[in-house]
Amino acid sequence: MESSLCPKMCGVRAGRWATPGWWRGEEPCSSPPPGGADTEAVVTEQLPPQSEPRLTLHLLCLQLTLCLLCCLQLTMAKRLQAQRLDGIDYSPRVEFVQLASEEADVVNLGQGFPDFSPPEFAVEAFQHAVSGDFMLNQYTKAFGYPPLTKILASFFGKLLGQEIDPLKNVLVTVGAYGALFTAFQALVDEGDEVIIIEPFFDCYEPMTLMAGGRPVFVSLKPSPTQKGEPDSSSNWQLDPTELASKFTSRTKAFILNTPNNPLGKVFSKEELELVASLCQQHDVVCISDEVYQWMVFDGFQHISIASLPGMWERTLTIGSAGKTFSVTGWKVGWVLGPDSLMKHLRTVHQNSVYHCATQGQAAVAQSFEREQLHFGRPSSYFVQLPQYIQRCRDHMIQSLQSMGFRPVTPQGSYFLITDISDFKNKMPDLPGAADEPYDRRFVKWMIKNKDESTLRAMDQKLQKWKAELTP
Ligand code: PMP
Repeated sequence: MESSLCPKMCGVRAGRWATPGWWRGEEPCSSPPPGGADTEAVVTEQLPPQSEPRLTLHLLCLQLTLCLLCCLQLTMAKRLQAQRLDGIDYSPRVEFVQLASEEADVVNLGQGFPDFSPPEFAVEAFQHAVSGDFMLNQYTKAFGYPPLTKILASFFGKLLGQEIDPLKNVLVTVGAYGALFTAFQALVDEGDEVIIIEPFFDCYEPMTLMAGGRPVFVSLKPSPTQKGEPDSSSNWQLDPTELASKFTSRTKAFILNTPNNPLGKVFSKEELELVASLCQQHDVVCISDEVYQWMVFDGFQHISIASLPGMWERTLTIGSAGKTFSVTGWKVGWVLGPDSLMKHLRTVHQNSVYHCATQGQAAVAQSFEREQLHFGRPSSYFVQLPQYIQRCRDHMIQSLQSMGFRPVTPQGSYFLITDISDFKNKMPDLPGAADEPYDRRFVKWMIKNKDESTLRAMDQKLQKWKAELTP
């Protein structure tokens, strides 16, 4: 991840900002997470007595078997792993999630998922999908459950100003991640260049490499702010001359992510028009990751690049039900685009995943049908969600500022980065290897905590440190 961040910025990413029940109007951090102590008590009661000799023997045998299995390592005279895996085995997310799982009392700010319950209509839709029509337990169409492809076509057709054919222009995937993977595999060839804007969602680079492509980076750069004036993600921009210089005859694809993870930048119409004209001029496909499109704050507007003139034909627009309805575990995503591109994605899909879980797709279809009825009204989840996330964002900014950090106010997504360089020489005893960048080690330190609520835990951790710093 550090390669994606400005060297003086710390990736304190607010993946989990909230508490259950918020969307019914409860204040953030006001209610404890459900389950907790009760669940634990039940489990403890059901456990057999630990001193049972036969059980101990079984456990010993199991441990021995596991030990033996761990020791058995396949060695081959031939090279074992495919070359396409070279250099992409490290994932910061895997490392940080592992770190978080090592201790029970950890605040995970690193991964993009909510810590509040999804809207009731989505949960009910899932329950209905599981307990209703038994045929939803079976395969559906390979490229998407028909009611889902139909509603995605009609919903996004209006937003993009396109006639979208559910069979030709929509593909349902295993999350937006699956959509990205399918797109890279379908379009990027050995030696193709793929332009990626820094800072970026970490999978774009390995997915390019895995497809044999060459990532070409271009950075968003902050314009200097007045002393004391808070920084904002809209202040971070691409230099038009530098951007143009990245396009060559080998450029195959441009990866756009708006609202951007991790900066929270929402690209303006002018910025998108510049990208669009360069893509058209150099005959480049745009892969537009718009998973945070409903999380936009401060009156900013999300614009899909596919809606700009001449862009539908060369754009793949990627979305995620996980981010849209706060159900990241469902792993339902989609790609929208012209048939000339989509037919190649379908080839990858039918030769890899082939099919995504039917019940999840049915629940997402029903959730979109509900949203279509409420669209633009205060009752719409797409109106309520950004309002809530914005309140959480403001809370987090206040907390970071009270520490003396300089957060960059995001205009979208649920991420936030902050400048901690003023504290470089005052760091606490940080975990991690000595040669790791200090900001990364600081994030590791930050995610360990002793409280149940993500935001409150972060506040307490920072304030405790502040008290220690004060002479
Ligand atoms: N794109 C971006 C920018 C993301 O942040 C994420 C998840 N963190 C994804 C795609 C993947 O979304 P999904 O969970 O639907 O696979």
